[in-house]
Amino acid sequence: VATPSDSPTIFDKIISKEIPSTVVYEDDKVLAFRDITPQGPVHILLIPKVRDGLTGLSKAEERHIDILGRLLYTAKLVAKQEGLEEGFRIVINDGPQGCQSVYHIHVHLIGGRQMNWPPG
Ligand code: 5GP
Repeated sequence: VATPSDSPTIFDKIISKEIPSTVVYEDDKVLAFRDITPQGPVHILLIPKVRDGLTGLSKAEERHIDILGRLLYTAKLVAKQEGLEEGFRIVINDGPQGCQSVYHIHVHLIGGRQMNWPPG
């Protein structure tokens, strides 16, 4: 189990393409790629290319409002691109109790199957 920290994460190597990933969307601010352990037919992670202290949502400051909005709006674009017309699930895990394992904020976009609520 990872502990919260400001150290570089595996996502830096994904951004630099040092570690390969299946990119489904990219612009100057946001990268979206397929999760290596998919929890559904579609499971995509959306991350800011520059972390800027945003290890997790709990560390958000006012300066992050634009990138937070972009992550969610991009999730909607990618959901459409992936054909998730029937719906999808957005998740941001935060901290140890939230099961966060990578301390570079990321939005999970999961779809292509029926979700359950409440989550475990
Ligand atoms: P968290 O548990 O922090 O919310 O989510 C981290 C996610 O990153 C997990 O779903 C995990 O499968 C994914 N992940 C971890 N390492 C890699 C990797 O090297 N490549 C990809 N594509 N996903 C990864």
